[in-house]
Amino acid sequence: MDSNKRLPPFVNEPMADYTKKEVSEAFIKAISAVRKNLSKVYPLFINGKEIITSDRLPSVNPANPKEILGYVCQAGTEEVESGIAAAKQSLPAWRNCSPEKRAEYLIKTAAILRRRIFDLSALEILEVGKQWDQAYADVAEAIDFLEYYAREMIRYGKPFITGNKLGEENLNFYESKGIAAIITPWNFPLAISMGMVSAAIVAGNTVVFKPSGLSSIIGYQLVSVFIEVGLPHGVFNFIPGRSGVMGDFLIDHPDISIIGFTGSVGTGLRIIERAAKVHHGQANVKKVICEMGGKNAIIIDDDENMDEAIPHVLYSAFGFQGEKCSACSRVIILDAVYDAFVERLVNAAMAYKVGPAENPAFSFGAVIDENAQKNINEYIRIGKHEGNLLYESPIPNDGGYYIPLTIIEGIKPEHRIAQEEIFGPVLAVMRVKDYDQAIEWANSTRFALTGGVFSRSPEHIEKARREFRVGNLYINRNNTGAMVERQPFGGFGMSGTGTKAGGPDYLLHFMDPRVITENTMRRGFTPNRKKDM
Ligand code: NAD
Repeated sequence: MDSNKRLPPFVNEPMADYTKKEVSEAFIKAISAVRKNLSKVYPLFINGKEIITSDRLPSVNPANPKEILGYVCQAGTEEVESGIAAAKQSLPAWRNCSPEKRAEYLIKTAAILRRRIFDLSALEILEVGKQWDQAYADVAEAIDFLEYYAREMIRYGKPFITGNKLGEENLNFYESKGIAAIITPWNFPLAISMGMVSAAIVAGNTVVFKPSGLSSIIGYQLVSVFIEVGLPHGVFNFIPGRSGVMGDFLIDHPDISIIGFTGSVGTGLRIIERAAKVHHGQANVKKVICEMGGKNAIIIDDDENMDEAIPHVLYSAFGFQGEKCSACSRVIILDAVYDAFVERLVNAAMAYKVGPAENPAFSFGAVIDENAQKNINEYIRIGKHEGNLLYESPIPNDGGYYIPLTIIEGIKPEHRIAQEEIFGPVLAVMRVKDYDQAIEWANSTRFALTGGVFSRSPEHIEKARREFRVGNLYINRNNTGAMVERQPFGGFGMSGTGTKAGGPDYLLHFMDPRVITENTMRRGFTPNRKKDM
């Protein structure tokens, strides 16, 4: 690839058209193909070789935990050491590989994901309980990250001159930081993993990748696609493992230069703290890219259109069972419309059915595992005590990790369910006297990830733009589903360190800027200097 001109402009991957019979047939076929391949053992991948270990973690279907989808080999500290050694060995050649060439690997990887989109979606449906559309959207987002970061790296790969002083040339360029440890959550198992890994790789870093134990079979798919594109050995190393066994060893390792983390605030802050300590032999201050949780609110103004707002609020709160960092977990309603809005919200929620994600008759499904189920049930218990239960949906009683869609009113900023991330289908309803109080309550948590406002007042919308302080604010629409390039995504406060995945400055976090200043007035260069002189 010689220049950006050879790539067409970036466009987001289109969504599937579910009205087409061939689309539903493709999902059904792909789900049954996953089932033909159950109980496979998934190896680690270090320096181009598959490594089998004796410690293996089963991965199960959250809608039917008896269904084991496969066993994923777990890395101990020895394998982490080997992965980092492979990444170190391959770093000089990869760093010197041209940005265009590195981008080409990403474009080829995107083409493979596009070809395999139904197979990968089927895996997500069974391994993490994504509904068909949610699973497809996650794979499509992974493709978007690859296509976008490839173009971004070609842009950043061009050195540029700063200043215009006669007789002096100041050449600016970016260079990779080194070895990146990429640690990802299970809830966007392909998009976040592929996004962070591909950003690190295209920027010239080499990678050791640890997916979540709850989505490691999807994590393994990065191995299979990178083998197919022929990524040089050691550039990408797959080291799934138990955090308690290998997490600290990976974070503390002196050869790691970047930690790209997405996950909960507890884990993120712990990683930031550990990464600050310099260990013997360490050459770089570790850079931590940390994207964490949210406690996102949608404000309902007294002039909004309920027919528009209600489906958006329900989708934002309950889409993928509320297991999105961007999910709406608080709806803040102005007193003048409160009663009518709440009545219609509950009536609308009753229309949704909860059941296995593989069956499109159900809008929402099981949460990820037993721990999540217990944790969310505990928050529901607390919420019922702090406020009044408005609605609790029926759920299947078949052993799946189900949680009812739950709506609780009477919640105030001091309540725990107004402050702590629940990460499940629980919506806190808050009544406010006016718009000023709505903004104040919306801002009253330590998180600052997403937010939403439904209003027809230009003055109120303007006030939200200025004062509703979150990384991604959505006006008169749902507050989930940020698209690569169009809505660079990420928060600040305790939601993150201010990075924006899928945005124009994201790759800069994976590189060091360098400047070379040359005195071009100097005379008397020695052309063709001979070695024996
Ligand atoms: P988590 O913090 O439990 O785990 C995230 C990753 O960190 C996993 O791979 C896990 O194995 C690993 N990990 C856990 N402890 C570790 C340790 N001590 N050392 C090294 N690695 C360790 O989070 P999760 O349950 O997987 O994901 C859900 C969380 O992620 C939610 O809080 C959600 O809001 C957040 N999230 C944020 C964004 C965002 O862009 N801001 C996106 C998706 C999810």
